[in-house]
Amino acid sequence: MNTLRIEEMTWVQVKEAMAQGYRRVIFALGSTEQHGPHLPLATDTLIGDMLALRIAEKLGNTLVAPTIRPGCSEHHMNFPGSLSISSDLLSALARAYCESLARHGFESLLLLPSHGGNFPVVKRIVPELQNLSAKVIGFSNLAEFQQVIDGIAARFGVTPSESGAHAGCSETSLILAEHADLVHMDQAQVGFIGDFIALAQNVKASSAGLELRMDDISPLGVLGDPRGARAELGRELLEGLAERLTTFYREALGSRP
Ligand SMILES: [Zn+2]
Repeated sequence: MNTLRIEEMTWVQVKEAMAQGYRRVIFALGSTEQHGPHLPLATDTLIGDMLALRIAEKLGNTLVAPTIRPGCSEHHMNFPGSLSISSDLLSALARAYCESLARHGFESLLLLPSHGGNFPVVKRIVPELQNLSAKVIGFSNLAEFQQVIDGIAARFGVTPSESGAHAGCSETSLILAEHADLVHMDQAQVGFIGDFIALAQNVKASSAGLELRMDDISPLGVLGDPRGARAELGRELLEGLAERLTTFYREALGSRP
């Protein structure tokens, strides 16, 4: 097989792959949202595409369905171009993917959020999808995802605040790894540096439930410092994240290797 991506295959090739034992499908839930003045809006979608393919290769017998491209990005809507859909619509899309794939006879469906705002949706819908003929597994531990990133970034001398939660050193490095043509390093500028989680909690407590908007924290739309980004770090991040996630899915698949 020269591709694992079902959108690049013919239906005949999908049928043959299934007959050869490809009974699992992984797909990412990305976003189309601003990522600072230096990264494309497809950043989370591209990260989802790259990770899903690597995980499929590591797991074996796994195909890749198209990444869901719009995500829950309401907090980025003051930046031109960002698209946002409701969590209900994202849930419905993920459910439709799973129902379609289960109807074709795939046995395991792996959900991979590659945008922070999609993690809670994956966590919520996976239990609701357990009545399908396919086993549905979702990774929804954002803290662990971030820990893997920060651990690898630290080996490159990058601090967690520089690594950043959005369009910082790590996300920029991830895009440099395989899509350097879409990165404008001459526009990379330092964004919010500090404890973003604490800030978010303070704002939530003080604004009677109003959601924190990205432009309130950083007018550039950047959390972290992308200036030290490099492709080598991006490749290590892709490998480290894919390795950790593959272990998670393998364990969750349990008796269905
Ligand atoms: Zn992102």
